[in-house]
Amino acid sequence: MNIVDLRSDTVTQPTPEMRIAMAAAPVGDDVYGEDPTVNRLQEMAAARLGKEAGLFVPSGTMGNLVAVLAHCNRGDEVIMGTLAHTFLFEGGGISALGGVFPHTIPNQPDGTLSLEAIQSAIRPDDAHHPISRLVILENTQNRCGGVILSAEYTRQVGDLAHRKNLLLHIDGARIFNAAVGLGVDVKELVEPAESVTFCLSKGLCAPVGSVLVGSRDFIHKAHRIRKQLGGGMRQAGIIAAAGIYALENMIERLGEDHRRAKLLAKGLTRVEGLKVEIENPPSNMVFVQVSDEIKLPTAQIANKMAELGVKIGVTGSKRFRMVTHFWIEDEGIEHTVAAFKQVLADAV
Ligand SMILES: *Cc1c(COP(=O)(O)O)cnc(C)c1O
Repeated sequence: MNIVDLRSDTVTQPTPEMRIAMAAAPVGDDVYGEDPTVNRLQEMAAARLGKEAGLFVPSGTMGNLVAVLAHCNRGDEVIMGTLAHTFLFEGGGISALGGVFPHTIPNQPDGTLSLEAIQSAIRPDDAHHPISRLVILENTQNRCGGVILSAEYTRQVGDLAHRKNLLLHIDGARIFNAAVGLGVDVKELVEPAESVTFCLSKGLCAPVGSVLVGSRDFIHKAHRIRKQLGGGMRQAGIIAAAGIYALENMIERLGEDHRRAKLLAKGLTRVEGLKVEIENPPSNMVFVQVSDEIKLPTAQIANKMAELGVKIGVTGSKRFRMVTHFWIEDEGIEHTVAAFKQVLADAV
């Protein structure tokens, strides 16, 4: 059976061409700064995002953690959304390892944090309060449906943060999905930010890795912190080569994934028992809710879907997430819609 795995774009395996690039990569010891492939990836990533320097890290989680630790002191506070990946899914690392305090404010349905809410979250200079140091935005915003934050909105948040002496970090795990979705240069989306993390291992198909970018001074500090966290890697050019291949070949095609997400959303609106949250999804994610007349628990629906060869993500008691990516074809989308119809017809 051909499995349609829509749980995440992290399940993407490297393409055959990418594997060839990996096998052929010149390598050296990156802890000595001697891996030419890692160095090239870091320079390419920085140039692509319009920043001075880059740092290759094993995961997006480490990229965000290193960024927060480089920007903040113990007891400082970071403002982010209640649905931010850094708040929900990174093991509380900023607090456990950095003594950094998360100050969460609601994400609006469009993924943004309201400027008013950010403004009132920023503390006055008073010894009773932690020092507000950093704002984190997430683009695309995963839990809100893979929604895209505009360059204009990001600029407004940057202006507000900077006016109040705060810094801006963008968790851009899928920043290239955002740029392709909007049809803008990714530089515009991250220009106001002091630092940005993006993932190579999601829709871009690389097997491992993320890159953190920012100013030369910031990356110098981040490099030291990556070492403290045990993230110094040796002949990492083997995996960095996949990242270079991804930056050169896998970005423009993300539009295909977005087209298929729209196709999937459209197909699922016609399935009895499902409500599609965003009928015209802006990037590569489709979230659906199961209506009340369906009595079968979501975990069991997911199991039955898996028996029909479709893997979906359970993201709540009544909610599923599906993510399109390089290895999903149009037939997989059609098969998913048909499988949902079959499973839910039996489940009322
Ligand atoms: C996946 C993801 C991360 C973390 O990436 P890992 O490589 O899985 O650690 C960070 N932020 C967002 C929004 C993500 O989707």
